[in-house]
Amino acid sequence: MKRVKACLNSNCTEYKRTYYKESDEYCVKCGAKLSYVCKHPKCFKQIPNDVKENYCPVHIAERQDKKEKRGEAVKKIGGGILAVGGLAITVGKAAIDIVKKK
Ligand SMILES: [Zn+2]
Ligand SMILES: [Zn+2]
Repeated sequence: MKRVKACLNSNCTEYKRTYYKESDEYCVKCGAKLSYVCKHPKCFKQIPNDVKENYCPVHIAERQDKKEKRGEAVKKIGGGILAVGGLAITVGKAAIDIVKKK
């Protein structure tokens, strides 16, 4: 994934509004040097040059979280296919638990 830059000059009309490409060095509006920022639309937190991430630590953690939750949902659907009645749902979950332990 490509990292993004933004203008962090608070007097600039592009301040925390426009994403620039990695190859862009300076803001087209004010000429300030662009900084790497978090890709989260409401964040724009500056990311140090030596940190090779698209997001700030907060949003990396948040995205990780979402990914894990999506994984859980898929597992539940998997259990649901096996399930016919309430008892079968329990059996399905148990089967998934056994698979997880392996
Ligand atoms: Zn600017
Ligand atoms: Zn962020």
